[in-house]
Amino acid sequence: MHVKISDLRLIVERFLKEQEDNWLGDEEEVISFTPDLKDKIEKAFKSTKNTIIDELKKSDTARQSISDVSVNSAINIINNTYLHISSVADQKLKGIKAAAYHSSFGDEKGDNRDIIHFDKIPEIIDLPSVIREKYNKDPKNNPIIVMFELYLHNLSYEKIEELLLHEVGHIKNSAIKALSNDSNFNVNEVKKALRKDLRNGSRNQIYEYILRHDGRIENNKNTQELVYRLALYYSGLYEDPPDNLGVEELSVRLTALKREPDALEDFKSGKRKYSYFAKVYNTDIADIMLFIDENSPPSIETINKIVMTNTKKAKSVTA
Ligand SMILES: [Zn+2]
Repeated sequence: MHVKISDLRLIVERFLKEQEDNWLGDEEEVISFTPDLKDKIEKAFKSTKNTIIDELKKSDTARQSISDVSVNSAINIINNTYLHISSVADQKLKGIKAAAYHSSFGDEKGDNRDIIHFDKIPEIIDLPSVIREKYNKDPKNNPIIVMFELYLHNLSYEKIEELLLHEVGHIKNSAIKALSNDSNFNVNEVKKALRKDLRNGSRNQIYEYILRHDGRIENNKNTQELVYRLALYYSGLYEDPPDNLGVEELSVRLTALKREPDALEDFKSGKRKYSYFAKVYNTDIADIMLFIDENSPPSIETINKIVMTNTKKAKSVTA
């Protein structure tokens, strides 16, 4: 039987942990060995890639107008994604837990977020130079996910998995978007799934409305930052041309909702609170629930249309 070094490390650590429990008893938990953070991230990365690939394979490609060739190429790109666990601590990256770097249609906004996406990988990230060069030459086929250790130490395995599902989701979307060469990818599908009452609002008005009129989310310093960021995404959806980052961020959150159709049923039965959806499901789902129309919530079929491309524009995947 083959045992990989990382597995071995985990086994050894489990053994040590058991020994230590025997030596120290229960009260000394504080200094106990916990499985290595890196192992936790790597394990979550593997399972996340499998989840996203399974979803892609199961997706109704005909109805979503994605060619099977695009799906296979996207799977290759997902499998080719390089995971970098960074120990960098820099003011410029303050609060960022994870980031995905991939081909894009040129958006470079990214202030004040805990999860952001750069087209260019900042020089301060301690990425091996070979990997950086590979990415710079061909970002479409060599995407990178960076996980910042500094902010991950206290997260459960489940939370790390959620972060990675979000980031690998971006890799999947950007791959399909690049393969189909369609910068309007998902725009109409996302618009159809979300509320329209705020579409003419400015970013500030959207922010104020959600925070002060809707009553779905508590108003405090943390939620203010969050709602401000989400209002940016939503207003970006209605810009002309639509803002790539906004469409993309709303798409991955709708994909999260796609995975938990019960959350939509909860909303339809009257549940509205951000805190409820964050607790029972996850924060991606809670985020998107702020943008679901109370009077005519979308059907799950409408949400399932997210990740739709126009095959007429599809280019050869080897191009
Ligand atoms: Zn994101």
